[in-house]
Amino acid sequence: MNAPLPAQVLKQHLIDPEICIRCNTCEETCPVDAITHDSNNYVVDPDICNGCMACVPPCPTGSIDNWRLMVRSEAYSVQEQFGWEELPKEKALPVVDDAAAPSSDEASDVLAQPAAQTTFTLPGASVPPWSAAHPYVNLYTHKAPMTATVVGNYRVTGADTESDIHHIVLDFGELPFPVLEGQSIGILPPGVDAQGRPHHARQYSLASPRDGERAGYNNLSLTVKRVTEDHGGVAAHGVCSNYLCDLAKNDTVQVIGPFGHTFLMPNHPRANLIMICTGTGSAPMRAMTERYRRRIDTGENGKLMLFFGARTERELPYFGPLMKLPRDFIDINLALSREPGQPKRYVQDLIRDRAGQVRELLADRNTCIYVCGLKGMEVGVLDALRDVTMQGGQDWSILHDMLRREGRLHFETY
Ligand code: NAP
Repeated sequence: MNAPLPAQVLKQHLIDPEICIRCNTCEETCPVDAITHDSNNYVVDPDICNGCMACVPPCPTGSIDNWRLMVRSEAYSVQEQFGWEELPKEKALPVVDDAAAPSSDEASDVLAQPAAQTTFTLPGASVPPWSAAHPYVNLYTHKAPMTATVVGNYRVTGADTESDIHHIVLDFGELPFPVLEGQSIGILPPGVDAQGRPHHARQYSLASPRDGERAGYNNLSLTVKRVTEDHGGVAAHGVCSNYLCDLAKNDTVQVIGPFGHTFLMPNHPRANLIMICTGTGSAPMRAMTERYRRRIDTGENGKLMLFFGARTERELPYFGPLMKLPRDFIDINLALSREPGQPKRYVQDLIRDRAGQVRELLADRNTCIYVCGLKGMEVGVLDALRDVTMQGGQDWSILHDMLRREGRLHFETY
């Protein structure tokens, strides 16, 4: 009677180091700061994690969704997890003394129980739009990458500017690599890190639509900025970005993925897109815009509204081709922050300038919003959307909830 429940049993949350692409999404999402990382792995602290699951939907690879039944005192420590190259094999739980053992119902209660009541809200949706096409993910992994051939690599920013951004086209030959706009891939740079371990994959969004950079060809494109300094302006050599920007035609590259199951475009006719991006965050917007451009004569398209931020016109990737798009096809709003002789403008300023049109699109249930680029823009963009909504006499919190629930507001920021 009244035997104590085996509180010593823990459903331990683990991250699979073989699939994880170290994108930092889980660490940013975790409401209790249970996730941390070193130069090798992202790991979950068993003493802090409460199993709230907030980190699971945003993970682009699914590597976050691993759970092991453990005797609590034997839980894998953070230090152990840092050293892993792969998840350890499942261990059988020891047989517990019958008198102290819970019935199976009790046991499942214990295992289900750790989640505390943590309320946490993501800025965007954790589900795709209802009509998004089915994405494939993790077809190629660290252990079994795909070899792609470089068929194009050229600069898409002014040669005299600091922003060295490249458009890189990779071809997959005969092998399948099905992708959707908004998805990303991982590139495995050659060589080893300071600890002598192979470099981890770096994640890049696709800049081309599902039917290829060149329609009907088995290829895709990326938008890559050569990293020569860190966010604080200190000189730093980006391992993968420099590798990619220096590739020549016919070089081969190791690719994993595809990744991403929520930042996807709607697939139903007359869906409108509001696209908000900075710098290389324009990659998925190019993919979606090109998808629409290729069916411009079908009558299926809804409206496209683009807010694109860059330092100057010459540092704005794809400036030339973008400006050639018909104005009745896409409503383009460029926010230039360092254009000589012009006031500093951010995308959120332009959203406010265009409040009427933004409100009209937000009022349409067929509108989806995509935000990609610098992490810092997230708050500014949400504030601007709130302001334009409230100016129209609407309650932003109700609309914001609806946009999230219906998979109509998506963020991908770094
Ligand atoms: P950047 O040139 O540093 O900045 C682009 C523009 O954003 C500049 O005009 C900048 O203004 C402005 N900006 C700075 N802070 C802002 C804020 N808080 N709100 C709104 N605008 C702001 O951009 P970048 O180096 O290309 O970086 C783009 C980001 O996209 C990177 O973090 C990258 O990791 C990420 N990303 C890349 C990919 C890809 O596939 N390559 C995919 C997804 C995301 P200032 O003059 O003030 O600097």
